[in-house]
Amino acid sequence: MKNRKIDKVKRIALVAHDNRKKVLVEWSRFNKVILEKHLLWATGTTGALLEKEVGLKVTSLVSGPLGGDSQIGAMITEAKLDFLFFFWDPLAAQPHDTDVKALLRLAVLWNIPMACNRATADFLISSSLMDGEYTRQIIDYSNHYNRPIAG
Ligand code: PGA
Repeated sequence: MKNRKIDKVKRIALVAHDNRKKVLVEWSRFNKVILEKHLLWATGTTGALLEKEVGLKVTSLVSGPLGGDSQIGAMITEAKLDFLFFFWDPLAAQPHDTDVKALLRLAVLWNIPMACNRATADFLISSSLMDGEYTRQIIDYSNHYNRPIAG
């Protein structure tokens, strides 16, 4: 597997669980000038809020519980997204907890910069690395394909 380049203009996914949406909206409003320089995707309800409340141009996917988190996971796997702001709720079980776990797993697997709370999001968005290209190192998973299979 090859390393992957993150361009200067980043392909960013934004997701917030219901109890975290207000925080994401506030944070996005504060960082609007920076976010506008990038290409944005979001799960359905989050995306609609960011457009209406913040005035950002966002490509909205399906709502999270209906498959939106899985769509984002698939896009990361297909190298169509390279950044994730995921304000998940640590105090509420979600109907799509399995999808949430899968998305977190895929973001780590593919070495995607990911912020799950506001403080990390602040550090990520203010990083000097946001202004240029970056090479994302991907672990060589070829051993996985060549693993011995019984029978
Ligand atoms: P939503 O989905 O933006 O459609 O509310 C978020 C989520 O629960 O993953």
